[in-house]
Amino acid sequence: MRAFLLFLSRQESFKNFMLRFRMFRNTAWRFVAGERVEDAIRAARELRQQGIRATMDLLGENTRSEEDAQRTTGEIVSLLDRTHAENVDCNVSVKLTQLGLDLGTELCFQNLARIVRHSAGLGGFIRVDMEDSSYTDRTLDIVQRVHRETPNVGTVIQSYLYRSEKDVQNLIAHRIGIRLCKGAYLEPATVAFKKKRDTDANYLALTKRMLQSGLYHGIATHDEPMIDAIKQFAGERNIAKDSFEFQMLFGIRRDLQQQLGKEGYRVRVYIPYGTRWYPYFMRRLAERPANIVFILRNLVKK
Ligand SMILES: Cc1cc2nc3c(=O)[nH]c(=O)nc-3n(C[C@H](O)[C@H](O)[C@H](O)COP(=O)(O)OP(=O)(O)OC[C@H]3O[C@@H](n4cnc5c(N)ncnc54)[C@H](O)[C@@H]3O)c2cc1C
Repeated sequence: MRAFLLFLSRQESFKNFMLRFRMFRNTAWRFVAGERVEDAIRAARELRQQGIRATMDLLGENTRSEEDAQRTTGEIVSLLDRTHAENVDCNVSVKLTQLGLDLGTELCFQNLARIVRHSAGLGGFIRVDMEDSSYTDRTLDIVQRVHRETPNVGTVIQSYLYRSEKDVQNLIAHRIGIRLCKGAYLEPATVAFKKKRDTDANYLALTKRMLQSGLYHGIATHDEPMIDAIKQFAGERNIAKDSFEFQMLFGIRRDLQQQLGKEGYRVRVYIPYGTRWYPYFMRRLAERPANIVFILRNLVKK
């Protein structure tokens, strides 16, 4: 089911078909703050009142023209200015294919460097999301190049990839902060664990390695047993609660986000917004069969 949905997320004709259903579009707002930057800012402010931090994500991926990549870069720079001017305390997350990675490494590097430099001038931080495994090497290379010049940038590692232990070690050696997640793309067994228990075991092992590195990292999961194990590990090693943060996605496990905050842990929520929400939304649907059942039931009712 998950593989099938991830396959459908890449089919333009299926997308056009589904977007005709208002119910389908309305369900997206459970996971996406809205289409406008104001929607994301409102969501960040509401979370901040609960002591929860934010990272903003202007949705978009696999940009097809250089012009589009430059325009998106400009929009992200404006987002940085806007959140700074309005005193919204947040990071910004970006995807390299949104900045033109499919069109050329140099173009993408220049666009990311521009965003990271601008963010540094405002005292901000940029997180480079990780996309499917065909982009991993290029993403890590570009992030390391930009980090050498301007260090307020970090990236993401996915625990379902066999290679991730090596990548975590390498990023720590270069003093680059990591967001660890399980991974959201359709990957072959040649590069990724297929069983949840293997991905989870790797997640825990990598988290332990990261927490002992002395760097500030993000532990991105909604998996409660995993979070409990991490809390226990950090407690036993006297790892301070403010030396790392838990991260979750907008609209998922709000109860757990608040509970962790009340327990004194740092929590950051990823707030996606914008008109290009379809692939992001499909990945969220694919993660949990109950989400599909909910949509199907309501589509049938129409
Ligand atoms: C802040 C953040 C940033 C991320 N960035 C990236 C990235 O750059 N690249 C990437 O590949 N992936 C990214 N992901 C997605 C991640 O890889 C997983 O696909 C996603 O987080 C689900 O995995 P999980 O760790 O929550 O565990 P799972 O084992 O999948 O889920 C554990 C529990 O979480 C809840 N849950 C999980 N997903 C959903 C959902 N969609 N709807 C409702 N409940 C759900 C359920 O209660 C489930 O039982 C990110 C995730 C987070 C939280």
